[in-house]
Amino acid sequence: LRSSSQLLVLLGISNGGLLAYSDSQADVNALVSESAPQDAQKKKVVVLGTGWAGTSFLKDLDISSYDIRVVSPRNYFAFTPLLPSVTCGTVESRSIVEPIRNIIKKRTLPLTVILRELNLATEIVPFSDALIFRKMEWFNFMKLNVSRLTPANRRVLCRSNNGPLIGKEDFMLDYDYLVIAIGAEVNTFNTSGVMEYCHFLKEVEDAQRIRRSVIDCFERAVLPDITEQERRSILHFVIVGGGPTGVEFAAELHDFIQEDLVRLYPTVQDLVKITVIQSGEHILNTYDGRISSFAEQKFQRDGIEVKTGCRVVGVSEKEINMKLKSTGEIFSIPYGMILWSTGIATRPVIRDFMEQIGQSKRLTLATDEWLRVEGCQNAYALGDCATINQRKIMEDILDIFRVADIDNSGTLTVTEFQDVIQDILVRYPQVDLYLKSQHLQNMEDLLKDPQGNERKEVDIEEFKIALAQVDSQMKSLPATAQVAAQQGTYLATCFNHMEQCQTNPEGPRRFRKSGRHRFQPFRYKHFGQFAPLGGEQAAAELPGDWISIGHSTQWLWYSVYASKQVSWRTRVLVVSDWTRRFIFGRDSSRI
Ligand code: FAD
Repeated sequence: LRSSSQLLVLLGISNGGLLAYSDSQADVNALVSESAPQDAQKKKVVVLGTGWAGTSFLKDLDISSYDIRVVSPRNYFAFTPLLPSVTCGTVESRSIVEPIRNIIKKRTLPLTVILRELNLATEIVPFSDALIFRKMEWFNFMKLNVSRLTPANRRVLCRSNNGPLIGKEDFMLDYDYLVIAIGAEVNTFNTSGVMEYCHFLKEVEDAQRIRRSVIDCFERAVLPDITEQERRSILHFVIVGGGPTGVEFAAELHDFIQEDLVRLYPTVQDLVKITVIQSGEHILNTYDGRISSFAEQKFQRDGIEVKTGCRVVGVSEKEINMKLKSTGEIFSIPYGMILWSTGIATRPVIRDFMEQIGQSKRLTLATDEWLRVEGCQNAYALGDCATINQRKIMEDILDIFRVADIDNSGTLTVTEFQDVIQDILVRYPQVDLYLKSQHLQNMEDLLKDPQGNERKEVDIEEFKIALAQVDSQMKSLPATAQVAAQQGTYLATCFNHMEQCQTNPEGPRRFRKSGRHRFQPFRYKHFGQFAPLGGEQAAAELPGDWISIGHSTQWLWYSVYASKQVSWRTRVLVVSDWTRRFIFGRDSSRI
């Protein structure tokens, strides 16, 4: 263990979180576990992932209260909404990433860090460095991949993603609390050839690869001794998936080609084609209908072909095979580059974890509304890797009714019914929206008989029918940065009040046990969503059912995305990249 500690110190990683290591392929249970906690009083919190959920949790957590170990294969946070801009060089990749250590350091000691960065720290606050080091000691980051979770003995097996570290590649961590925020992977639907021939857009490296690939296509297309048909194929850019990422990439690529590349490659400018393939009837089908039809019309004007009702059934080296859903006809089109952007799937490490905790029948890891993993003690899951189990919420609501129906008559008085509705809304705030928007009226209808007269009693069975409609309307929260970040902040607040809320619980009443829940459940606030459509135009769904489309919305997009940057450094870099692009255009060098 001593040699491994030395090794980690050499690598610049604090040794506080290391418990043990083993040779590769070692059996998890055979690993030696030797605890070396920094502070035996403090609870060990292992945080997996440094994306939106993990970072917002760490930013808001009082790190001095816990012994924190963060595990992630990347030592930075990436601002994913700007990844499509990186694919075409509108924004540089380094402008959207911030080292996770910087984020923690700045969060914990803002004044000292500012002074230090102005080189005033040593003069004005001589002990500032010592303070920073003390704070950073409480926070252990390890650039590793989690390869297995073993909830039975509260351990996490991690593996180096840079090859073995002096011959050892597995590390074991134990925890008191586990925060799982490892996001999701790309969903290929097991379509043949996708892994081999398609690009994905999940990570910064993906965006860099796409940027190189676009330029490569243009360089290949202008080589001599190629037929025009071959040039057309090489310059055919196909995007599979008409969701926000696919649409934004298509728009970025169109702008890049029209504003920069056609001037540099004039001989092939008429041969370029962009196609978006969408299995549904419309692109951007999770947005308001006005936005999706505006996007379709704009793409038509821009010459971007949108093939709806098509499902990709296979990809080969030069062709993409599709099936027309209406007729079942199968056809192929040649391509130069494909971006596969059809949604997300559960990572294998989470699937394995789900099997261990009895969730093998589910598609995604289920949590309750306090973000606690169902069937697992002291584990929390947030962001894209988990969903709040809505079905269970509905079962719980029916239980509330059963408990309220003391005399088992199958009916409730009107006052009892109204109390129950209130209880549901307090306990499950996320149901509120659905009840209010769709079905609360139906429930109020239950208070009247078919003639419109006030009832004295409400039939629970009738309520269940109304509830079934609510159930079908209750969709899982979307897999977005907004949800992930809010969940991270929510969980950090719970962790910061763990002690106080133990003695003074602030949550709603428990109905299966006595007392109250420790915390209020997680409540998501939707602040709207954007869809940049190219040509300095964007569409936005804003709170209060507002729709905004056009050039002014693009400026709103610039302001929101600049303000949402995680640090002033990235904010300045992103804004200067936009300015550089306005003045000089995008850089088409293939590096
Ligand atoms: P992620 O941000 O994906 O973070 C996962 C973390 O886990 C990463 O640090 C990763 O390195 C780490 N990790 C992965 N595997 C392991 C492992 N085995 N062990 C340990 N750590 C691991 N959302 C919006 O709200 N608005 C947008 O405009 C928007 N645009 C997007 C554009 C693109 C191109 C993409 C890809 C996504 C976009 N999203 C947007 C969605 C948003 O990025 C995700 O919902 C969000 O990143 C989810 O956060 P997360 O923390 O759950 O996962």
